[in-house]
Amino acid sequence: MKYEAVIGLEVHVQVRTASKMFCSCPNRYGAEPNTLVCPVCLGYPGTLPVPNHEAILKAVRAGLLTECTIAKFSKFDRKSYFYPDLAKNYQISQYDLPFCTAGRLHLSGKGFSSAELPDKYIGITRIHLEEDPAKLTHAGGVSGADYNRSGVPLLEVVSEPDMRSADEAYAYLTKLKEIMQYGGISDCDMEKGQMRCDVNISLRPFGQKEFGTKIELKNLNSFRAAHRAVEYEMWRQADILDKGGSMKQETRGWNDDAGESYLMRTKEEAHDYRYFPDPDLMPVTFTDEEIDAIRKTLPELPGAMRARFVTECGLTEYDAEVLTADRSVAAWFDQAAKLSKSPKLVANWIISELLRLLGEEKVAIDECKITPATLAELVDLIENKTINGKIGKEVFAEMFATGKAPAAIVKEKGLVQVSDSGAIAQVVTDAINANPAQVEQYKAGNAKVLQFLVGQVMKLSKGKANPQLVIAELKKQLD
Ligand SMILES: [Zn+2]
Repeated sequence: MKYEAVIGLEVHVQVRTASKMFCSCPNRYGAEPNTLVCPVCLGYPGTLPVPNHEAILKAVRAGLLTECTIAKFSKFDRKSYFYPDLAKNYQISQYDLPFCTAGRLHLSGKGFSSAELPDKYIGITRIHLEEDPAKLTHAGGVSGADYNRSGVPLLEVVSEPDMRSADEAYAYLTKLKEIMQYGGISDCDMEKGQMRCDVNISLRPFGQKEFGTKIELKNLNSFRAAHRAVEYEMWRQADILDKGGSMKQETRGWNDDAGESYLMRTKEEAHDYRYFPDPDLMPVTFTDEEIDAIRKTLPELPGAMRARFVTECGLTEYDAEVLTADRSVAAWFDQAAKLSKSPKLVANWIISELLRLLGEEKVAIDECKITPATLAELVDLIENKTINGKIGKEVFAEMFATGKAPAAIVKEKGLVQVSDSGAIAQVVTDAINANPAQVEQYKAGNAKVLQFLVGQVMKLSKGKANPQLVIAELKKQLD
């Protein structure tokens, strides 16, 4: 490839709030269409918008978490356009004075195709707050409009054209989502349309300074789709340029099933939205003290959390990555690790057992019957040799099903590990007597048979014997 891709992203993120941006209708997904509406979000004449304080605070949080400068004076503007998804004929948005500007986001680690990413920052031009339009659905020659979404607070995060590959775009999206989730700003559930992404992409020969003609790819509904679409577009544009053709500025859609982009419209000129300050809304001002107060409420971000898990809890980078991929899992582990003497083992149990069971049963970690305290207790019971690891799994399954404390289960079922050497010697003798053929093989020099005999002893002890003592005793009696 003799061209370099220049990629910028525009990401829309729905803000998690109780009510909509400028009215008191609930901000909720999945209700019957057009049941969460009122005269304000339906654009009736004579109604007045009242800004949602929580949404503005969350916009500022998003800005602080991405190292933006927070405007001390900003305002809402009317973006005029006529389309059925906005009953007012204009959208309340922000034009020249957004809440957040000039931020950045750090990329590092491995990309989508597991190649190492360059260690670099992606600039964030601006983050502004606006209202989401209604959702239009077109099917069978009929169109429907659901105004439940109209007026939901929406952040628009515009990046600088700093990305150079599909992997970088994917990593940027992943990082941004992580920040929005950790910051409590949005759940970013893409299936519910809470995070949506448009890509701007152009090619230029390596070494050239000027940008090529930019193509806009609209409404990519998953990060994977965004990655595929960027790779496809790079290939498509390179092919046109190679053949001596030139690019026209256009907007394209992405057909994920066909794996190709298609022309939506050619842009002859930029839209004239006739922005002007919304006369119904006061400017929004912040003092330094107010911004600092918000800064103090910011959570620890996943990057910092991962580093802490590695240094303080002795986890591998991989473990830390798995645990912080979901904010609730990270918080859950953090709590359990603080209660246990062996945080690394707690992490192992979560990664190899708990996450698997949660996935199988489709249960969220916060709704599961095992608590950070009971898992910490289980790990400590294994560590202090009250039970062995195999029995631990049995107890774990019981905890998952019933929510009982591990000590109670161990007591109830008589599962305490047998470490009494007399009792173990007896079971070992029984196992030796019951398996003369294998004992013969072991004595003839087949060391692998020992594992079989250990298994027989464990079986006879119903899994309760201390495995280290069993091995020692077997060797003693066989030698
Ligand atoms: Zn409303």
